[in-house]
Amino acid sequence: MSEVVIITGASRGIGREIAKRLAIKGLTVVANYNKSEKEAKELRKELEEKGFVIDIVKADVSKREEAKELVKFTLDKYGKIDILINNAGISEYKLFTDETDEDWNKIINTNLYSVFAMSQEVIPNMIHNKKGLIINMSSAWGVVGGSLEVIYSVSKAGVDGLTKALAKELGPSNIRVNSIAPGMIYTKMNSKFTKEELEEIKEEIPLGKIGDTTDVAKCVDWLIEDKYTTGQVISINGGWIIT
Ligand code: NAP
Repeated sequence: MSEVVIITGASRGIGREIAKRLAIKGLTVVANYNKSEKEAKELRKELEEKGFVIDIVKADVSKREEAKELVKFTLDKYGKIDILINNAGISEYKLFTDETDEDWNKIINTNLYSVFAMSQEVIPNMIHNKKGLIINMSSAWGVVGGSLEVIYSVSKAGVDGLTKALAKELGPSNIRVNSIAPGMIYTKMNSKFTKEELEEIKEEIPLGKIGDTTDVAKCVDWLIEDKYTTGQVISINGGWIIT
């Protein structure tokens, strides 16, 4: 049987691109969405028209019970999970002094708690199979911090901490855990920026362009292929941030 992968937040943007790419490569894809049901159905249809079948499963992965149900669906149907891609995320552009407890809880639960909960739910099966790969979608702001995105930066720095520590704990069980830290990628998440602002950002990027969702999906391909990388935060940012 082909490798089974769960991708959280696959209805749009980066997650959607990863879902398409892996389905076309022949993996068994369980694509999670939360609010964007229409987009998720369109993704399934688009792939069906090309001859590929995927599952789309609604779950708010910031909630333990829904994360559990998503994993249960996958195990009941396929009996194993080889790869978990914790991609679901939200961002907010606000002065730190305007942030509320509600903002904190929403962003931390969606971006960081979901990684904790989803990973905990899949790991027993991976340990049983003595094999697994977890890829967490982090951000350049988790590495260097982003002005007006403090809570987001905290959540992604937390994701990277989780990645590093969990990689050490799970290495002996042959489970690899890595983060991908994209810089600026064209998706709905960045629709808050004007054309002029995007041009200014482009000028700061040594490779002279904003990234595309395929730039990130190709890194996922590589991490699946590779068997000796774990605990790493891999930056995909055109040289925008070099640490
Ligand atoms: P996007 O286009 O806004 O898509 C976000 C995805 O996350 C959507 O599919 C959304 O699903 C899903 N999602 C949000 N909350 C969820 C929840 N509670 N449960 C399940 N799914 C949820 O964003 P993107 O740019 O593709 O971002 C994907 C990841 O890359 C995020 O973790 C983001 O932080 C990270 N990232 C992006 C960039 C960038 O420049 N775009 C840079 C660095 C890092 P629904 O709409 O169905 O709710």
